[in-house]
Amino acid sequence: MPETILVVEDEPSLQETLLYNLQKQGYRVEAVGDGLQAVETARRLRPDLLVLDLMLPGLDGFEICKILRREMNVPIIMLTARDDEIDRVVGLEVGADDYLTKPFSMRELLARVKAQLRRTALVRDELQKIQTASETPVEIITFGNLQINQTRREILFNGAPLAAKPKEYELLLYLAQHRGQMLSREIILERVWGWDYIGDSRTVDVHVRWLRQKIESDPANPARIITVRGGGYRFEG
Ligand code: CA
Repeated sequence: MPETILVVEDEPSLQETLLYNLQKQGYRVEAVGDGLQAVETARRLRPDLLVLDLMLPGLDGFEICKILRREMNVPIIMLTARDDEIDRVVGLEVGADDYLTKPFSMRELLARVKAQLRRTALVRDELQKIQTASETPVEIITFGNLQINQTRREILFNGAPLAAKPKEYELLLYLAQHRGQMLSREIILERVWGWDYIGDSRTVDVHVRWLRQKIESDPANPARIITVRGGGYRFEG
């Protein structure tokens, strides 16, 4: 996808030259010569970059900058004609990312455009990396051939996902998080099923039996989920 550039310049010959040269570089370009039109076009087009003349009919470049800065994150290269304007532009009072004083060479403008687009792409990539890293915490607990994938809420046995009910998954996760501890049926019921669950501790026994059939090599002689006589259960790993 080529990058989109909006050119705002009211001087017809300069507008045409900018349009021609930017298109020749492979950019998708639209050009307008009026301040109000510039704001409308930017809202519709969502350009990757704005080349913005300062003195314009309708709204001037400063006003356009102010409006668009509130609405979108777009790099802006200002075109100024007068030396006394430069102070305001350079002072970044309006938030231009770069500026050129007329007359300027097309070569210079193209270099600035390229630099701004490259900078934005770098920032975007960095943000994406940070987001991807923080949004997908892969938390996998492993006990030999048994794995609990907390991101996918999945139990894997010998590398293959098991068909387990949500409560079986939650029960196993709770047991695994308290590995080596004796957990009473009442505690398990409360923590996995919740206070408002209507049922009794046999619910826990049933789910433990189901789990054993799936994750124990010999469900009749369990090595992972151990029954503690008169107590409850203990997960060995
Ligand atoms: Ca002008």
